[in-house]
Amino acid sequence: MALKRAFIFLGPPGAGKGTQAKRIAQSCGVPHLSTGDMFRDAVSRGTELGKQVKPIMERGELVPDDLVMKLVEERLSRPDCASGFVFDGFPRTIPQAAGLDRILEKNGFGKLVIDFAVSEDKLMRRLTGRRTCSVGGEIYNVYDAPSKVDGTCDVDGGKLTQRADDRPEVVKERLAAYERQTKPLTDYYRRQGVLETIDAGASVGEVQSALHKILKDARS
Ligand code: ADP
Ligand code: AMP
Repeated sequence: MALKRAFIFLGPPGAGKGTQAKRIAQSCGVPHLSTGDMFRDAVSRGTELGKQVKPIMERGELVPDDLVMKLVEERLSRPDCASGFVFDGFPRTIPQAAGLDRILEKNGFGKLVIDFAVSEDKLMRRLTGRRTCSVGGEIYNVYDAPSKVDGTCDVDGGKLTQRADDRPEVVKERLAAYERQTKPLTDYYRRQGVLETIDAGASVGEVQSALHKILKDARS
């Protein structure tokens, strides 16, 4: 029986986790789970959870662990996660990582963690230049990966929008939250022997090739 495995994409906001997670999830036939996307969806639908997390996200802070874990546990209980999934933007704190470990162990999953390493000057450019399709979620960048027609998605013609938290003042707080709360996870996973680091400052194609190689080696 094939090993059930969780892929965890770790790294600062803007490192390219979502861009790569979409591709890898599609090629492996497993769901792409972005807690950021789930919270944005709750905010745009105006649910109780959305109302709770909206001001926190607008400040660039992390949502409390109990709310994150509840959301994740519910999502992982769905049948499409039975053989594996790619996490992007989760876990982001040590208690979240420990909580995920308990879920994975209970359900017989292995894990592979990829740390997306990239310099801070590139992150600012990537975040402030990011545009996302309001229909299918395709990710663009006005500087490095523009759509063919300005403001319109190449894939489905949807309108491209800028995330409210990609404004420079919020970006600074998000990068600080990463340094403070998420970066310690690299040591946590290194100690477990499950951490691979990639040069996420390279082009989208180069990062994708590096990821494919790691996944191929992990399977053999
Ligand atoms: P994250 O999910 O880590 O926050 P995204 O995947 O949304 O990051 O990417 C952030 C921005 O950087 C987007 O505008 C995306 O188009 C761009 N981007 C992603 N990967 C690369 C790359 N390797 N080189 C240049 N720009 C990239
Ligand atoms: P992202 O789309 O991953 O950049 O996340 C956007 C925002 O959603 C973050 O700045 C946090 O406010 C919130 N968020 C997403 N994932 C998490 C998480 N795992 N833990 C805490 N907050 C999160």
